Amino acid sequence: MTIPLIIQETTKGQAICPYCGVGCRLSMESADGELIRVKGVADAPANLGGICAKGATLPEVIHTPDRLMQPHVRPARGTELRPMSWADALGWTAARFREILARHGPDAVAFYGSGQLDSEAGYLAVKLFKGSIGTNNTDSNSRLCMASAVTGYQTSLGADGPPCCYADIDLSDCLVVWGSNMAEAFPVTFNRVKAHLKANPGVDLIVVDPRRTNTANDATLYVPVAPGGDIPLMNAVGRLLLQRGAVDHDFVAAHTEGFGGYRDFLLHADWEGLVSAAGVPEETIRALADRVARARALLTFDCQGVNQSTVGMWKNNSLINLHLLTGQIGKPGAGPFSLTGQPNAMGGREVGLLAQALPGYRFSADAGHRAEVEAYWGRPAGTVSTRPGLTAVEMSRALEAGRLKAIWIAATNPAVSLPDLHQVRRALSRAELIIVQDPYHPTETTPFADVLLPVAQWAEKTGTMTSSERLVSFSEQVVKPPGMALPDWQILARFGQAMGFSGFQFEDSGAVWDEFIGLTAGRPCDMAGMTSARLRRERHLRWPCPSVDHPGTERLYLDRKFPTPSGRARFHRRPHRPPRETTDHEFPLVLMTGRLYAHWHTLTRTGKSPRLVRLEPSAFVEVHPDDAAAVGLAAGQWAEVSSRRGLLRLPVQLNPGLSRGVVFVPFHWGDQQGEHMAANYVTMPAIGQIAKQPEFKYCAVRLAPAADAPEPAPDFARTTQRDTPHKAVVEASPRPAPGTTSTGEPTPLPCRADPQTPVLLSRSSPRG
Ligand code: SF4
Repeated sequence: MTIPLIIQETTKGQAICPYCGVGCRLSMESADGELIRVKGVADAPANLGGICAKGATLPEVIHTPDRLMQPHVRPARGTELRPMSWADALGWTAARFREILARHGPDAVAFYGSGQLDSEAGYLAVKLFKGSIGTNNTDSNSRLCMASAVTGYQTSLGADGPPCCYADIDLSDCLVVWGSNMAEAFPVTFNRVKAHLKANPGVDLIVVDPRRTNTANDATLYVPVAPGGDIPLMNAVGRLLLQRGAVDHDFVAAHTEGFGGYRDFLLHADWEGLVSAAGVPEETIRALADRVARARALLTFDCQGVNQSTVGMWKNNSLINLHLLTGQIGKPGAGPFSLTGQPNAMGGREVGLLAQALPGYRFSADAGHRAEVEAYWGRPAGTVSTRPGLTAVEMSRALEAGRLKAIWIAATNPAVSLPDLHQVRRALSRAELIIVQDPYHPTETTPFADVLLPVAQWAEKTGTMTSSERLVSFSEQVVKPPGMALPDWQILARFGQAMGFSGFQFEDSGAVWDEFIGLTAGRPCDMAGMTSARLRRERHLRWPCPSVDHPGTERLYLDRKFPTPSGRARFHRRPHRPPRETTDHEFPLVLMTGRLYAHWHTLTRTGKSPRLVRLEPSAFVEVHPDDAAAVGLAAGQWAEVSSRRGLLRLPVQLNPGLSRGVVFVPFHWGDQQGEHMAANYVTMPAIGQIAKQPEFKYCAVRLAPAADAPEPAPDFARTTQRDTPHKAVVEASPRPAPGTTSTGEPTPLPCRADPQTPVLLSRSSPRG
């Protein structure tokens, strides 16, 4: 008998995980053109071989039946999307852009991208819209998660960018996690924290959060701050440090400014008012200040609990004040470390993919900065607009008002992720032209599109991303993109050419990168020494890295010199400001939204993995047992959560670890999974004055048993604290045959798009 010989063509490579900002380096293996296995790379500085369930299940979510294979254009409203060649689709789009620009000027168009885009794509979006079309309406969904950290670093330290690196975890004796469920949102980094605690029993882990999360379960001190009570709590701790003399006077005198005003502001503050607004027992505040005061190396991690607020920049300033007061910055094991939500949110900041920014940490409001980039791009003076650009929520408002006519949406799903989704849907319905660039169809956003452009995603392209710790990493390609899908940067380069702009001819992604890093030379995020050839060879480097023989920089400010005009870091006086919406008799509870371990953003990927869906099968509302009992709700029963803007219908999960008066809803679910599940139907669109970040952590809601309630949901019919298995490392298994999953189950999300046939969607439904 002859045994048939099966020869599989295998390819191996390494890439940065496309999910969170931890930036785990993963090794990938493909066979016969399909990704079959991923695992953590042992010597990668971010993960040291670690991987979480999201990373490990990546092979399940790449080659799915809902991949978009070909460009599609809807020639006129009321007609169906039709498949087209790239040349025809981009030619049609360029003609529509020219017509809108001629009628309404450059500020009638906008680009809304994402921290999922690699730096090459983000850079070309900025060059296209700011440096060619002439509008600053170029923003990204990092506005929803990192904008407050960006402006906080800039105003306190003189430049954006976390000064620390993950290795500082091992050197700290006091770690504070403020406003982050790090165990679920950044599991690999949190496992490093846990390992450090286990090896060093004297090390403190302090967790500040209104919700007693899995992260808080490992804390040596848990501080249940009231929603919106962060600034008074930070100021109360600052005052106690001053009163105890726990001030590094040498550091303050030599390297800071504004200390006198800050000291007087704190010492004259109403103590009872601070304690009451913080919502924390006084003895707990004193315990927190004690631990900060005795810390040899204080490392604070903060994330959305600090950022997603209309006073998010002030919260960042107030937290950094504590580091300046105690001299806990610019030394190993210490510093204010803002965790970055998305894999390349940091890179988006570097390339200028925020409305106020230009590449190389420049600002469009600065005449000198505009002139520098115009000269670099060979553009006439005045090409880069002086007019402030619209940010994410402002774009949605401008679309609804008719001031913005066209929007290009890339690598994000705003019909789930923006606040006040009823407004967002009205806005998208009124736009004259919507281009959506995405690997998948349908998402909640793609049915609004006039132009759908298929994108190569993770493992299907080369590119560069920067993680939370300023580590710039090159990712390799191991499989071909499906159908006609192209990398994001190529789509933008081709569109630039179709518009007739110069400077959009590139050989490959490396050529785009090498052009971009020229704009960082001499800037705080100097990457001039990280050529694409070097990154391909060495895989990763941390900025600043000004020359090709520079080894990169592990920690910033070791010389205690800050990039402000005086060279000193700045104290800021930041008083308490209540959230923009308050509770009342009609809406007596505070709603917070957040992430879960098993899912990523709007489920476009993780919702396709059976193993991840089994870990977190459904949206829910988490309620304190007393608050549930007060309205006659029990675990597993269906509840209506309503705000002034909308309504959710979700099963109740009880959590005695929640502060009374607070409810929590994960933000991952959207209309693709069912009606009334998307948390952002009820959230508030208020944004901060400078950072322009929305207040996702606070809106007033009412809770009631759902009318015509279905049977109790068994998954939630328990009164226990959530116990997500964040320690688990799910082994990646070989990819299943097409049409099935690794467990042989059907793909959990229904797909309307058949990859073999053209997508022909009517636009009438979402546009009403
Ligand atoms: Fe990816 Fe998980 Fe690592 Fe985040 S922690 S980068 S999701 S593997």
